[in-house]
Amino acid sequence: VREGLEPLAHQYGGGVHLAPRPADAHKNLYGTVLVVGGDSGYGGAAMIAAEASARTGAGLVRLATRPEHVNATLARVPEVMASGVVSGQELEPLLEAPSVIALGPGLGQRPWGEQMLARAGRAQAPLVVDADALNILAGGRVLAGVRRDDWVLTPHPGEAARLLGCSSAEIGRDRLGAAKALQEKFSGVVLLKGYGTVIAHKRGCEIVRAGNPGMASGGMGDLLTGIIAGLMAQGLSPLEAAYQGAWVHGEAADRVAAQGMRGMLATDLLPVVREIIG
Ligand code: AMP
Ligand code: MG
Repeated sequence: VREGLEPLAHQYGGGVHLAPRPADAHKNLYGTVLVVGGDSGYGGAAMIAAEASARTGAGLVRLATRPEHVNATLARVPEVMASGVVSGQELEPLLEAPSVIALGPGLGQRPWGEQMLARAGRAQAPLVVDADALNILAGGRVLAGVRRDDWVLTPHPGEAARLLGCSSAEIGRDRLGAAKALQEKFSGVVLLKGYGTVIAHKRGCEIVRAGNPGMASGGMGDLLTGIIAGLMAQGLSPLEAAYQGAWVHGEAADRVAAQGMRGMLATDLLPVVREIIG
């Protein structure tokens, strides 16, 4: 940890701060999440994110994905409204309604993903930007120079390295400094994943220590993206959603780890996420 940065970091102790639901609550109170992702070969990532948003309590969840992933999504989670989109133009009408857009799970880095990012990245709604959306951003051809106060970027160390043009070993040597550098570059909130999640925002850094090495498996990051988007849909700010979401995610994994860490799957955490959020 670089000298001088540690005092800026607060340890986030945990808990989720959503208001109790009134008896006459209606789904419109809890927002709509739109997940955009799932190019050919990567459909599961977008499905996991969408299901996570639903299990976090979002009022409605939509998924914009490759048409070939629509049936599988409907079969697994019929509550998610899945639309097949083949071009940026087809995505456009879906971008109008959501209260938050989760962009990137399984997005791929081919022209389809680039078109999705180019359109969704400029939508009105706040964004959670993850996975291949970050890799495309790092390429510098799509959304070049765009800074937003209302987005949460959630890189793992490899994605952070691509965004900063350095190695992941360098990120590992100074995680606080890396998160801060990314926040300065992109504005908004930057959540650097891995052991000891670092969340950088314009006034400092938070560290969330929940979680365990059982989480080192495919799909875990997609789950986090869906959780953060689900919390934003219910009214938390990008910063609150980032640190409360990271805590819920890690806490769920810590509870599931009672049955062992090896073989823990992202979807195993879903029922526990629901229990924690209450
Ligand atoms: P991704 O690499 O995008 O799939 O994201 C993996 C998720 O699991 C992130 O939220 C990480 O912070 C979390 N994770 C992975 N390994 C660990 C670990 N050793 N300790 C705590 N959290 C971890
Ligand atoms: Mg990931």
